[in-house]
Amino acid sequence: MASAGRLGGAVALVTGGASGIGRAVCARLAREGARVAVADRDEAGAGDTVGGLHAGGGTPHAKMGSPPHRPHAAFGVDVASAPSVTQLLARVQEHFGAPPSVCVGCAGVTRDEFLLRLGEGDFQEVLGVNLTAVARALVAAGAPGGSIIHVGSIVGKVGNLGQANYAASKAGVEGLTRTCAKELAKFGIRCNAVLPGFIVTPMTDKVPPKVLEKFAGMVPMGRLGDPEDVADVCAFLASEESSYITGASVEVTGGLFM
Ligand code: NAD
Repeated sequence: MASAGRLGGAVALVTGGASGIGRAVCARLAREGARVAVADRDEAGAGDTVGGLHAGGGTPHAKMGSPPHRPHAAFGVDVASAPSVTQLLARVQEHFGAPPSVCVGCAGVTRDEFLLRLGEGDFQEVLGVNLTAVARALVAAGAPGGSIIHVGSIVGKVGNLGQANYAASKAGVEGLTRTCAKELAKFGIRCNAVLPGFIVTPMTDKVPPKVLEKFAGMVPMGRLGDPEDVADVCAFLASEESSYITGASVEVTGGLFM
């Protein structure tokens, strides 16, 4: 259990916040005192996430006489679209009265197919959502003293059958993170990646139960991960407790593929 308030007053932008790991990250950052901008192409799902968040983020930007702001807010966005991301950042700034100082990129998709059958569209879409777009969000969201966290995957390191596009995008996340770390350090912005192993979310619902069982059997810790396992590490990387960590990739795999 973490101490409360490590992110008191911070504005945290979480993409992919309507589901799975992103939703757990929103919940964790809100419990740490952040005001959370929950962004997703599934705007209704983002609203559901907001509805479940701890309300302790405060309302420092409510104007005199105006109705109190809710500390958290939901935003629709397509992270694969530069104009959509630009618009998101403007809306977040307007709502919270400040740019985000924590940005966690959790939006991601899979379009699994064996390499020899993989269509160009499915290759580009996965790169567009998982990699290119998040880069735009990261650079645009960079605020002094900020922390940028990119959710990659252990699959980017070890590869996986039927996931050439996904593995390429997630390997790219690590290169991007290290480059951002080098370029943005002088602005006081840290950039790190979190590499989950197999985490039980709607994304893994698509994986046949037999395959999941096989992976669970390979995990030294003997279980698949929970979204909260990843969210805990994101909260640490977002906080000052990791103030001398940048360019790192933290594996959250229960020891799988170490
Ligand atoms: P999920 O499907 O539950 O959540 C992904 C979210 O991203 C959804 O809410 C979806 O609407 C949103 N999204 C997709 N495309 C988007 C777009 N273009 N714009 C805005 N939002 C978009 O999946 P998850 O398992 O929670 O995955 C979260 C992240 O973690 C992804 O980047 C995924 O690749 C990564 N990851 C997951 C696992 C796992 O085992 N679940 C393992 C390693 C890495």
